Formats: sequence, C-alpha cells, structure tokens
Amino acid sequence: MAGGNVNVESRDEIEGLPNLLVCDLDGVVYLEDEPIPGAADAIEAIRDGGWRVIFATNNATRTGADLVRALADRAGVVAEEHDIVSAAMAVVSLIERGPVFIVGESGLVDTVHQAGFEITTNPESAATVALGLDRALSYEKLASATKAILGGASFIAANHDPSFPTPSGLVPGGGAIAAALATASGIQPIYAGKPEVAMRDLIIDRAGVVDQVWVVGDRPDADVALAQEAGWSSALVLSGVIASPDAIPPQHRPDVVLGSIAELPTVLGL
Ligand SMILES: [Mg+2]
Repeated sequence: MAGGNVNVESRDEIEGLPNLLVCDLDGVVYLEDEPIPGAADAIEAIRDGGWRVIFATNNATRTGADLVRALADRAGVVAEEHDIVSAAMAVVSLIERGPVFIVGESGLVDTVHQAGFEITTNPESAATVALGLDRALSYEKLASATKAILGGASFIAANHDPSFPTPSGLVPGGGAIAAALATASGIQPIYAGKPEVAMRDLIIDRAGVVDQVWVVGDRPDADVALAQEAGWSSALVLSGVIASPDAIPPQHRPDVVLGSIAELPTVLGL
C-alpha cells in the first residue's frame, strides 16, 4: 500500500490495483441532515475513475446499516455496509470480553450486541466500558461507568473528538465525554477511532491490496493524523469543523486544503 502524490507512472507500475479514497462523513459528505453541495457527484466521479471509496467515520452513534441509510437519505450517496468503517466498529474490535457497560447511543449498543458481546447496565458485572457520543448522557450513567472502571473494567472510547460540526455550530463530541470519565476515574481510555491503529486496521482489512491512498476529512487531528501515521496522502476540507486554513495546526498539515470534497476529483486528476 503506497501513499504519496498522484503519479501516473507509479500507478502504471502497479497496474490493476485500485486506488483508495478514505472518506470522512460529518463535515465532508453531510452536515447533520444537510448534504455538502457537490459531494455525491464528486464521489461518483472518483468511483468512475476506478477508485475504491471507504467511508470512515468517528461517529459511534450509528450502526453500519444506519450509516448506509444516512448516506443515501442525506447526501444521495449509494454505499454498502462493506464500504463503511465506524468508530463503533473499531471499539468492538478492541473489546476482549464482556459483559460490556455502554455509555453511548443505540448504534453503539447494537454494534456491540451484533458482535456477540453481552451488554450490562450493572457496573459491578462489567468487564469492559465502551464509550461513544451519548446525547442522553446522565450523571447517573457517568457515575456507573466510573464505578465499573474503578472496579477493573477495560475502558475503550470511540474517539478523541472534542466536538462535531452541525449547521448551527460545534457541539460536544465523544471525546468530551471520554474526558469527563477519564477525569472522574483517573484512568485514560484506549481510543479506537481515527487516527488510532484500530480504525486504520479496519480500513486496511476492508480495502484489501490497493495502490495509492488518500484520506479526505475535515478534522486535522483525526483525518490528517490518520493519513500521516499511515503514510497516506490527505485532503482537508473547510466544509466542517475548520473554516479557515489558519486554524490548521502545524503538526497536522494536509497535502491539500479544499473548500469542499467537490474539488477533490480535480486534485486526483479525474
Ligand atoms: Mg468529520
């Protein structure tokens, strides 16, 4: 699997292997329920150019099937479950044993359950605490999760993301909840989502053998960092959490900065 820039000569050398686009969802394909203009056409053009597209999201509130529907309903993008990797799936890949106490929404509960793990609401019987964004978070749930972690349960969190973008601005993300629990328990979680290795391994497993890889995302510390750590190329879009190139931290500079994914096919030579 090679990173690097678009290069026709190197592509010809590895004739027959597809290129791979790892495509973030929130802030790239859609913002909450609203599509990013041109996203569906761009993805179609990239697929028509022979690229494989894998959607990789740090959103842990939805199952793979939910995300297939969200792509279709919100952005008019056709995808299959096999095309999608989520932080919920990455969390599951790190769970060694149940029962699992979940701080998260139904998509995380369903993903853990579908993987065959027992789920518990009793902190005393929990072997693992799995955490994602939870928009029905209560103090009681935080207290139970703290108790489970202090009792020896493994602590796995979907992502570091402090916030996520909505049409009305940034709202707290799963990383903010993980930070609350880490502060309360004094124990840091193992993170599963982008840019962590659990998520990268899932993407590589799904993609199979490919030539060059690009990541497109809106979050430097998740999407650009994923690309940097894997040796892949990256495009940062300004349609999500970051509105200006000035807000990109120097340690997570992408290969290109784009207004939106609509500009990506041209960058890829398509
Ligand atoms: Mg995003």
